[in-house]
Amino acid sequence: MAQYDFDLFTIGAGSGGVAASRRAGTYGARVAICEDDRVGGTCVLRGCVPKKLLVHGAHFHEDFEDAAGYGWSLQEPSFDWSKLQAAKDKELDRLNGVYMRMLRDSGVQLIPGRGRVVDAHTVEVAGKRYTAATILVATGSRPFLPELPGIEHAITSDGALQLKELPRRVAIVGGGYIGVEFAGIFNALGSKVSVIIRGDTVLRGFDDDVRSTLTQELRKKGIDVRCETFVRDIEKRSDGSLSLLTKSGDTLEVDTVLYATGRLPNTKGLGLEEVGVKLDARGAVVVDEWSRTAVESIYAVGDVTDRINLTPVAINEGRALVETLYNANPIKMDHSGVASAVFSQPPVATVGLTEREACERHGKVDVYVSNFRPMKHTLSGRDERTMMKVIVERASDRVLGFHMVGADAPEIIQGLSVALKCGVTKKQLDSTVGIHPTAAEEFVTMRNKRPDPEESAAQELGHDSGKR
Ligand code: NDP
Repeated sequence: MAQYDFDLFTIGAGSGGVAASRRAGTYGARVAICEDDRVGGTCVLRGCVPKKLLVHGAHFHEDFEDAAGYGWSLQEPSFDWSKLQAAKDKELDRLNGVYMRMLRDSGVQLIPGRGRVVDAHTVEVAGKRYTAATILVATGSRPFLPELPGIEHAITSDGALQLKELPRRVAIVGGGYIGVEFAGIFNALGSKVSVIIRGDTVLRGFDDDVRSTLTQELRKKGIDVRCETFVRDIEKRSDGSLSLLTKSGDTLEVDTVLYATGRLPNTKGLGLEEVGVKLDARGAVVVDEWSRTAVESIYAVGDVTDRINLTPVAINEGRALVETLYNANPIKMDHSGVASAVFSQPPVATVGLTEREACERHGKVDVYVSNFRPMKHTLSGRDERTMMKVIVERASDRVLGFHMVGADAPEIIQGLSVALKCGVTKKQLDSTVGIHPTAAEEFVTMRNKRPDPEESAAQELGHDSGKR
C-alpha cells in the first residue's frame, strides 16, 4: 500500500463519497477526497435538505388556515421569501461546516478542485497528481434539460433554491419527484403554479393509485396540472416574463419556468473511459454488485452509477464498499425493498412493488386500499384525503408493497419498510394492535380486499348465464 500516496482517493464529496471516506478513515485507511464545490453534495447543498426546509416553511400556510377550525384566530399572516432563503442558507453553511469537521475528525484529507482519473491508480486535481490503491468515483448527477428553443431561460432545481424573489407565476415542466415537490412549495407560498406533464398523472413509476390520488390532491390545492402536453418553445418578453408555447398551441405566461425533467450522471471530463471504465448509454458508470467498475482498482457509488438515485442508497453503497475493502466484512448493498418519499403536499411514501409490478411478477395479488379524510381535517374543514394501500401475494400472504399519500406518509412508511424487509405477512399485520387514533393504524386494520376486476367479471358472466 505504501507505494501509493493514499489507500483510497474519493472524487466527489457528496453523500456517498463523504460516507465512504469517513468510514474508511475510521478503519485506519489513508484517505483523500477532492471536491470542486463546497463539501456536502447535491443532497445537502442543492437537494433534500434545502428542499425539505422550504417544504416545512411552505406548509405553515395551510397550518395557519387549519388552526381556525380549532378556535384560533390569527391576523393575516405575511411571508418573507428572502428571510426563509437566508435562514435556509445559514443552515446549509452550518451543515457544510459539520461535514468538513467530520472529514477532518476521520483523518480524511480534503483536496479542493476537480478530479480527473489519469490511470488506474492516479487522480489529477488542479494540476497535481495523487496516487491511490483504490479510486472511488462519487461525482453524483446534474439536472437534465431537453433541447428546445428558449431553454436557456429555464431554471432547474439548483436555481429554484437560489431565487432572490418568489415568482408570481411559475411553470414546472416534469411531474417527477422534483416537479411535484416544488409545485407544493411555490403553491403554498402564494405563486400561481402550472405543472406540465407528458402523461395523464404525475409520478411515473409509482403505483397508479398513488399517481391518481396525488394528481387529484394537487389540483384541489389549486395547482394547474396540464396533462399529455409538453413545451415547444419558450420566449422571453420585453417585460422579463416568459411565454411558453405548448404542444396543443396554447400559450402560458409565467415569470419563471422550472425544468424538473430528470438528472444525468456526472461523468464528463473525468477521464473514466480513457482508462477503461465502462459507461452506459446515459453516461452512468457501470458497476458490479460490489460497486466495482471495469477497472479493478476503481469503484463508483451513488447517482453516478444510476442505480437507485437516493441519498441513503449512495451512503449505504459507500459504506458497504468500505466494509468490504477495509474491515474484512464483505457486504453487497441490497437494492431491494428501498423505501422512498416524495415531499409533495400531501407527501407520498412507498416501499416494495406497485400493484402492476406485483401482478407481473407474482401472479395473483390481494389489494387493500383505504381512502379517508384525516381526523385533523374533520375540524379544519380542509378537503384533503389520505390514501393507503397494501399489496399482498395471494399464494404466500406476504406483503409486496405499502403505499401512502397523506400527512406523515414518509414517517409511517419508514417503519413499515423494516416489516417488508423482514417478509411481513398480511396475517401478521392483522394481528398487530394499532395505535389509536392515528392514520398509521389503518395499515393494521384493513380488512376488505378490493374486488379483483377479473374475478368480478367472471362472477358476473356466471350470474348472467345462470339467468338466461
Ligand atoms: P424524475 O425522473 O423523477 O421525473 C422526471 C419528470 O420529467 C417526469 O415527469 C418525466 O416525464 C419528465 N420528463 C423527462 N424528460 C422530459 C422531456 N424531455 N420533456 C418533458 N418532460 C420530461 O426526475 P426529477 O428531475 O424530478 O428528479 C430526479 C431524481 O432525483 C429522482 O428520480 C430521484 O431519484 C431524485 N430525487 C429524490 C427526491 C426524494 O427522494 N424525495 C427528491 C428529488 C429528487 P415522463 O413521466 O413522461 O417521462
